[in-house]
Amino acid sequence: MTVAACVVYIGLGSNLDDPVRQVGDALLELREMPGSQLLRHSRLYRSTPIGPQDQPDFVNAAAMLETALDPFELLDALHLIEKRHRRERGVRWGPRTLDLDLLLYADRRIDSPRLQVPHPQMHRRAFVLVPLHEIAPQLTVPGQGALAALLAAVDTEGLRAVDEVATG
Ligand code: ADP
Ligand code: MG
Repeated sequence: MTVAACVVYIGLGSNLDDPVRQVGDALLELREMPGSQLLRHSRLYRSTPIGPQDQPDFVNAAAMLETALDPFELLDALHLIEKRHRRERGVRWGPRTLDLDLLLYADRRIDSPRLQVPHPQMHRRAFVLVPLHEIAPQLTVPGQGALAALLAAVDTEGLRAVDEVATG
């Protein structure tokens, strides 16, 4: 199906098998994704896990793409990349080699069993909002409001850019 190119935002996360490499590789794979162009991506951030605490820290990032894929084709393409990283679906919010979430698809709102856009939890999660704000500070989240206001309302303690972590 051919559609006009839309700007979309992807959230990336990993906390297994060298998360910095997993997220870095996933950004390269997003660059290669058919019908799409990677426009911008954030730095990598390290965060303490939500949900079960007995798991390694997460590495998160956000990416901005222009794509001719429709939302469901895009979701399938993201799942294909997750699969290449041998992600096994297990515990909810549990450890994973790679999680790719479709955060925003233009200004669309989608509510189907397979796909909810905007991603239902994104407006509460510092590890989504901080990298997203880095690449798109003026963004508005449909149904939720200005990204900057959402970011001001969450606790960003415990979230550090990876290069800041490396230099202490
Ligand atoms: P989570 O990211 O919530 O930890 P998963 O990555 O295992 O969980 O996703 C579970 C299901 O969520 C996927 O099979 C997918 O169909 C569905 N889903 C619904 N909305 C989205 C979205 N915006 N982005 C990615 N997956 C989504
Ligand atoms: Mg996911």
